[in-house]
Amino acid sequence: MTTASIPATVGRFAATSDAFTPWHDARHWIGGAWRDPGTRRAVLEVHNPRHGKAMARVHLGGADDVDAAVRAGASAQRTWSEWPIRDRAHVLYRLREMMVRNIDELSWLVSHENGKIFSEAKAEVEKGIECVEYGCSLPNIAAGNQLEVSRGVACEVAYAPLGVVAGATPFNFPLMVPLWMLPQALVGGNAFVMKPSERVPLSTMRLAEMLKEAGLPDGIFNIVQGGREVVEALCDHPLVKAFGFVGSTKVAKAVYGRASMAGKRALCLGGAKNHLFVVPDADVEVTAENVVASFTGCAGQRCMAASVLLAVGDVDHILKAVRDRAAKMVPGKDIGPVTTQAARDRITGYVDAAEKAGARIVLDGRKAGADAGGYWVGPTIIDGCTPDMPAARDEIFGPVLSVVRVPTLEKAFEIEGANPYGNASSVYTTSGDIARRVMSRVEAGMCGVNIGVPVPREPFGFGGWNDSCFGAGNITGWDGYRFWTRQRKITSKWALQRDQNWMS
Ligand code: NAD
Repeated sequence: MTTASIPATVGRFAATSDAFTPWHDARHWIGGAWRDPGTRRAVLEVHNPRHGKAMARVHLGGADDVDAAVRAGASAQRTWSEWPIRDRAHVLYRLREMMVRNIDELSWLVSHENGKIFSEAKAEVEKGIECVEYGCSLPNIAAGNQLEVSRGVACEVAYAPLGVVAGATPFNFPLMVPLWMLPQALVGGNAFVMKPSERVPLSTMRLAEMLKEAGLPDGIFNIVQGGREVVEALCDHPLVKAFGFVGSTKVAKAVYGRASMAGKRALCLGGAKNHLFVVPDADVEVTAENVVASFTGCAGQRCMAASVLLAVGDVDHILKAVRDRAAKMVPGKDIGPVTTQAARDRITGYVDAAEKAGARIVLDGRKAGADAGGYWVGPTIIDGCTPDMPAARDEIFGPVLSVVRVPTLEKAFEIEGANPYGNASSVYTTSGDIARRVMSRVEAGMCGVNIGVPVPREPFGFGGWNDSCFGAGNITGWDGYRFWTRQRKITSKWALQRDQNWMS
């Protein structure tokens, strides 16, 4: 394809408000330069969901582009791996400074391509910075260890890079989720090929240019734009040694299987259906504030969002406070749009079906923002769901709270435990005993007490259980470093020891 129209640099994103602002088309970043796909394929529009129109286009890649990116990574990686770990981490120090300095610009870019409101986008960038800071700290904690195992014989363990590694990310956190993977993988001495979501390919482009400016050698970070074809080519490529994935469960499971069958390490995080336990002794204000923030934040498009509220016993006074608080939220100001028209239709379809099946819609966001353009759904609460209703069972991924009434905690455990997902769960109570009982019984990897979104902050690792995670360990924190590196064990002896046996 012609390269005439490809910019040398995409530079800054100009928006400083919600006003519609177009940007550069999304292209591949290979060997430190923007590239068009080697073969002409589909070009998709990147919609600003608030305005419901295209702010850019994305040129989809394929196996030939994956091969070019992987080979660029392979030829640069040896030299990069020879940099001392501290020097590699210094690139992240400089990236961190740039991200802090340009936080508003990055937040506007995230907000425009994803739709989340500016304050949520800024929180995403802040969390991304925290992940970068974890990467900066690695030289202080990744020293490996050494022990004299017999007289004059020492065993040493060091962390070695894998080579070229890759990842694919979802639409809901365009900047943060890539930064769940990159700091550990890069400081670990690898080259990385990233495939961002084709719905939000722009923030990663800004990150690529910032990494270059921060001193990352060309070829160590590459982007191949696209969808399924690119993910599958990365899973199959013999030079890709590990694959990190974050997205829906169906795809996470398939990708885990494909990458594993190709002999790669894989860690694939999937979808969620998070249950909140509310008991009668819960603090009304704390519960209402946290439950509402949890199910409406990022328009419910978070894998940590509240989805089912298990109302244990008589908690009508708390449910009323939850409803009143959510009813005050203004679409466009307090809550952003959802990602696409199709997502909007899917979400409202769940609400329609629950209503038809006899549940009560006590707060109805189906008509929110109807005249405004864009893809809007307001906060919605469905009371009287039964556990077998799709609204109480499936991941809806929108600002919808399905309330299931249960007489006892035991019944609540039964419902939560029967759900195949296992990402997050929270309890709202003033009783330490109830908190401990719930925390020890729920089938979830990330649990909260009186908190709506129990995200483990760095250095604690992020990761779920059951159908929310395929592969071992967490994607962030120390587990992330272990995932993107391999251990080299060196046993040394520098003196003859005639009195010892073969193990010495
Ligand atoms: P998605 O699964 O549709 O897409 C994720 C990535 O996979 C994208 O890069 C996409 O291009 C690619 N992809 C899509 N179909 C594919 C296929 N058939 N084969 C190979 N690759 C494919 O997810 P999404 O809609 O972008 O994101 C929302 C989902 O991600 C939700 O289910 C949410 O719970 C989940 N999520 C999970 C976490 C977590 O930490 N567990 C975090 C964020 C989002």
